[in-house]
Amino acid sequence: MSRVQGEQGENLVSSQDPRYKPLAIRSPRGTRTTAIDWADGHKSIYPHGVLRGYCPCAGCQGHSGEIRFIETSDDLQEIEDFETVGGYALAIKWFDGHNTGIYSFPFLRRLCHCAECHAAAENSAQNATGREPIPRG
Ligand SMILES: [Zn+2]
Ligand SMILES: [Zn+2]
Repeated sequence: MSRVQGEQGENLVSSQDPRYKPLAIRSPRGTRTTAIDWADGHKSIYPHGVLRGYCPCAGCQGHSGEIRFIETSDDLQEIEDFETVGGYALAIKWFDGHNTGIYSFPFLRRLCHCAECHAAAENSAQNATGREPIPRG
């Protein structure tokens, strides 16, 4: 099996890397979807059920190595505010006050649910639900 190129370098996230550099982050109130335009031209889509379900904070995930999907109710999927942190991550504050999730940009790229990435995920039977654990960035 060949390894994914670039995997080794993911812990050394450079803000120069266009794959991990958001140009625009849009999360209009009421849409339950956040969109990120990346510097390499990729346009990511994130349903809020996915974002909240994969919240990487210790409170949601404990300290296991992988980030699992956790089912959330509808009223937990509204975003109050968000901000970028140190040029490497996105911090999301949810409407219910939950604000400890820090989503690194490499993690967000793996979480992408745009048509292109979703189709790629569906090619693998294991990933059909899009709810497989994701290794921590
Ligand atoms: Zn959390
Ligand atoms: Zn995508």
